[in-house]
Amino acid sequence: MNAPATAAGTIPTGLALLQDPVFNKGTAFTERERDALGLHGLLPPRVHTQAEQVGRVLNNLRRLPTDLDKYIFLTALHDRNETLFFRLVMENAEEIMPLIYTPTVGLGCQLYGRIYRRARGLFITAKDAGRVKQVLRNWNQKAGLIVVTDGERILGLGDLGAQGMGIPVGKLSLYTACAGMHPSLCLPITLDVGTQNQELLDDPLYIGLAQNRVRGEAYDALVEEFVTAANEVFPGVLIQFEDFANANAFRLLHKYQDRICTFNDDIQGTASVALAGLMSAVRITGKSLADTRVLFQGAGEAAVGIADLITASLVAKGMPEAEAKKRCWLVDSKGLVVASRTDLTEHKRHYAHEHAAIGDLASAVNALKPQAIIGVAAVGKAFSKPIVEAMSAINERPIVFALSNPTSKSECTAQEAYEWSGGRAIFACGSPFAPVTLNGKTFVPRQGNNSYIFPGVGLGAVAVKTRRVTNEMFLAAAETLAGMVSEADLAQGSIYPSLSQMRAVSATIATAVATVAFDRGLAGVPRPADIGEYVRSQMYEPSYPTYA
Ligand code: NAD
Repeated sequence: MNAPATAAGTIPTGLALLQDPVFNKGTAFTERERDALGLHGLLPPRVHTQAEQVGRVLNNLRRLPTDLDKYIFLTALHDRNETLFFRLVMENAEEIMPLIYTPTVGLGCQLYGRIYRRARGLFITAKDAGRVKQVLRNWNQKAGLIVVTDGERILGLGDLGAQGMGIPVGKLSLYTACAGMHPSLCLPITLDVGTQNQELLDDPLYIGLAQNRVRGEAYDALVEEFVTAANEVFPGVLIQFEDFANANAFRLLHKYQDRICTFNDDIQGTASVALAGLMSAVRITGKSLADTRVLFQGAGEAAVGIADLITASLVAKGMPEAEAKKRCWLVDSKGLVVASRTDLTEHKRHYAHEHAAIGDLASAVNALKPQAIIGVAAVGKAFSKPIVEAMSAINERPIVFALSNPTSKSECTAQEAYEWSGGRAIFACGSPFAPVTLNGKTFVPRQGNNSYIFPGVGLGAVAVKTRRVTNEMFLAAAETLAGMVSEADLAQGSIYPSLSQMRAVSATIATAVATVAFDRGLAGVPRPADIGEYVRSQMYEPSYPTYA
C-alpha cells in the first residue's frame, strides 16, 4: 500500500500510524482513511469527530482526583495524539494551562523520575562534551525554537537537575497552545550537568546523571559547545534559556544576546509581563509610571529583569537613566539593597541606592512608602497582613503583585490581598487564584505569568527569522499586552486580559515584535505588506488533516 504524503512527510500506515502521535487521529479516522491506511479492525468501528473526542477526554480528565494525575493524563495524551492534545488545551486554556504548566508542572518536575513514561526532547549531559553536535543530530528533525534548562532553579523549587525537563516541555506546549508555534519546530532540551539535590541523588528513580554539578570552565565550555552546535545543526534557531540559577542566567544572557538569537524568559519575559501589569495598574491609580516607586521582595533574575525594563521604559519616555533606576528598590535576604553594602553581586549593584541600611521588607515599606510591591523571592507568605495594611495606609490603591511560583511560594493569596486592603489592592499573582467576593464585589485576579509574553515574542521572532531578540521587543510586547486590557477587565480588578484570549494576545504581540525586527533591520525575511497577516498565517491550527 502506498502511504499518502502530507506537508509533514509520508505518513505511516496501520498500527505504526496509531502509535505515531503526530499523525494519529484515533477514532476520528474516516472510513476512507481506514480503507487507504490499513486501519480496519485496529479501531472500534464508530467514527468520532474531534469535538466528540475533546468531550470524552475532558470528561476523563475531570474525573481524576489530583492535579498530578491530570498532569500525567495530559502528558499521555500529548504522547498519543498531539493534535487532540493541543485542541483540548487551546479550547480550555484557563482550566488546562495550570495543569500542564505552573503550578502543577512544579510537582511534575519534582516527581519526574517517578512518573516517567516516555522521553520527550533531548538530554545533553556533561558526558556529551565534545560530541554535542552529534547528539543534536539525533533529533533528526528540524527545529526553529529550543527551550533549554540546566534545571538549577526550577520555578521557586531550586535545583531539580535533569528533572527540570518538565519546564522546557511545558513551555513549548504553551508556545503551541497560546501562540500557534508549530509543534514540529519545538525542541525541549535539558543540559544535565549534575545536581546538588541530595534527595534526588539518593533516589534510585532519579533520571539524571548521579553526580554533583559541573561548574566553572567545564560548564561554560559545554554551554558554548551547545550554543554553537545548535546554530550549526539548526541555523538561526531561537534559543530560550529557562530556569538557570541567577549567576549563570545573567552571565549567559550578556554573553549571548548580541551574538545569537536568544533570550532569557525568567529575566526578560517576566520583566515584560510585570511591566504590562504596572502599565495597567497605573490606569487605576491615576499616577504615571514615572510617579510610581516599586519595591521588590527579591533581587534575582525576575526582580532585576523587571527593574531594568521599567528603567528602559522610562528612559524611552525621556527620563535620564540614573533617575529612572531610582524608581526601583530591591530587598534581598539580607535586607534593603543599598550603596553601603559590600556583599552585592553585580546585577544588584545597579539598584543599590544611597539609603540607611534596612533589615526587612516591612521596615522598607514604611521607610520608602512605595506605590507598588512586587514579590519575586520565592518566599511564601512574605506579604504579611501588616505589610499589606501599611501599603493600604500609604496608597489609596496599593499595587501588590505576588508573583512567586508555585502557589506555595506565593507572597500572599488573592483573598488576603483584598481582605487586608479593604478591597483596594490592585493584585496580580504568579500562580492562579480563584475570584474573591468581598462585601458584595467580586474581584477576578489574573496571573502575572510570562506565558502572556514569551509565546508571542517567540512566534514573532521565529516567524520573521530575527537575528536577535532585543529589549525593545520586550518593551513593545509589554505595551501591546497592556493595550489589550479593557476597562471592563480593570473594573473587576483584572490587570491582564483573560487567558481565553491568549491566541489573539500572542498574535498581536508577535506582530509588534516582528515590526521591531523589520524596523531595526534584524529580520531574515522580506517585509510583508501586512505583518499581522503574515504572522497569523504562520500559526498552527490543531485540526486533523485529511489523509485520504
Ligand atoms: P532568583 O533565584 O534569581 O532570585 C531570588 C531572589 O530572592 C534572590 O535575589 C534572593 O536574594 C532573594 N531572596 C531569597 N530569600 C529572600 C528573603 N527571605 N527575603 C528577600 N529576598 C530573598 O529567582 P527568580 O528567577 O528571580 O525567581 C524568583 C521567584 O519568582 C520564583 O518563585 C519564580 O517562580 C518567580 N517568578 C515568577 C514569574 C511569573 O511569571 N509570575 C516569572 C519569573 C519568576
